[in-house]
Amino acid sequence: MFSRLFNSPWFFFGVAALLICVAVASQFQRADVEAPPGDVEDVLSLKEHKPYNVVFILIDTLRADRLSAYGYDRETSPNLEALAQRGVRFAQVESQSSWTKASMASLWTGLYPQRTGVIRFPHALPEDAVMPAEIFQEAGYRTGGVWRNGWVANNFGFSQGFDLYLRPTQSKSRADMRRFAPSSFSLSGTDLDVTISASEFVMGTSGEPFLLYLHYMDVHQYVYSDVSPVYGTDISDIYDSSIHWTDQNVGLVVEMLRVRGLLDDTWIIVASDHGEAFFEHGGEGHARNLYSEVQQVPLIIAPPVSLSPGLVVEERVANVDIWPTVLDLLGLPPLPDAQGQSLVPLIEAAAGLREVPEELVERPLFAQLDRTWGRATSDPDPMVSVMKKDFKMLHRFSEPDRNELYDRSVDPSEQTNLAGSEPKVQAELADEIKQFAKQGVVWDESFEVEIDELNAAQLRALGYVLPAAHQAVEGAKPVAPGVARKPKAWGEN
Ligand SMILES: [Zn+2]
Repeated sequence: MFSRLFNSPWFFFGVAALLICVAVASQFQRADVEAPPGDVEDVLSLKEHKPYNVVFILIDTLRADRLSAYGYDRETSPNLEALAQRGVRFAQVESQSSWTKASMASLWTGLYPQRTGVIRFPHALPEDAVMPAEIFQEAGYRTGGVWRNGWVANNFGFSQGFDLYLRPTQSKSRADMRRFAPSSFSLSGTDLDVTISASEFVMGTSGEPFLLYLHYMDVHQYVYSDVSPVYGTDISDIYDSSIHWTDQNVGLVVEMLRVRGLLDDTWIIVASDHGEAFFEHGGEGHARNLYSEVQQVPLIIAPPVSLSPGLVVEERVANVDIWPTVLDLLGLPPLPDAQGQSLVPLIEAAAGLREVPEELVERPLFAQLDRTWGRATSDPDPMVSVMKKDFKMLHRFSEPDRNELYDRSVDPSEQTNLAGSEPKVQAELADEIKQFAKQGVVWDESFEVEIDELNAAQLRALGYVLPAAHQAVEGAKPVAPGVARKPKAWGEN
């Protein structure tokens, strides 16, 4: 699988340099250690032993259904598949927003957007927020974050608890790199910069346990390499090629850990903040609505012990559950106030060690988006979705009589609106949304920051249209030069 990397000379030199670097620096380490085989009971008892490292890989804008690890017919993700085969794959995962900042604030804190208050353009996590990195730091871990998405930059409160939190140095432009059309919104560098920074961080830890957060962006940016298969020329095909390229980066991170003898010391977690639409509901991109194509994301947890075969948790879970679960698996203190729950009971159930706990299956799961999040002068236009068992309701507060209702068990892409035909379900879900909306921000008040010109320039490079008044329009796609992108009106999906 890894040998696929070496079919491009440019890629070969880049990778070889990285691995030589890793190998030289690891001469005093054990080498070639694999995660040893074990069963779920071994995995669950790890917390009683030494502190284990955690590598948390966030692949921005990654739909679960485009991964071969999730049954997609293109081989887009051989390295994620390898992690899933020796770990735990969660088959149905809901993100908490389709906009990066709101989604990531929920993912890290285990709180829904309604409770974090991180809903609109200037909102940030306050000092009072307890972040997982702070818990790791308190427990004596070295903590590092490497990111290329300006919505998780330091000024929005995401750096809390990280010893090192940075955008990676941009390496020289590489001849094997491609992008969907020459883009007018190009983020400098590629995800290989994140991978190289990851290697440098691990080399610098000299034996201390570490938490490393890597936030990849090339799928969001439709960037790929000659080394990846070109599935076609359509934007949706290029998206798949970008996934393959990013998956190769995940493979490099795993290889770097293996060369340094750290695979049996490290938990590897792969997640995403939201998906991407390709006209399933009339538009492409994300951060405009809460349909399944922008909500369903992957989650893979590969422990330092290799399960054979890997486990699949079929029950529906949410990104707010990620850190309650990881902290539980590591035996670290829980996040205060978290609304997400530890998924350890579902892992045990998947292994046949217990029954599926009803409270984890019956609970409602929410997502939230303020559709005018980027318009400083517009009134909020909040929408909430609730998933309970197989039904999902979408509720837009500005149009309270226009709820949408879908049965995911027979309509996974949410094409048939059942509103009106299932009055009992609809009433139950409407009540869940009513209760949800009553919740306030968990901290004394939500926190806002000024977006300076440097930030604004970085966010523009992601494709977010930020005029002088910082009115962001949408998570826009790269477009060919000279092709004006007509921003859609918010109702126009
Ligand atoms: Zn994102």
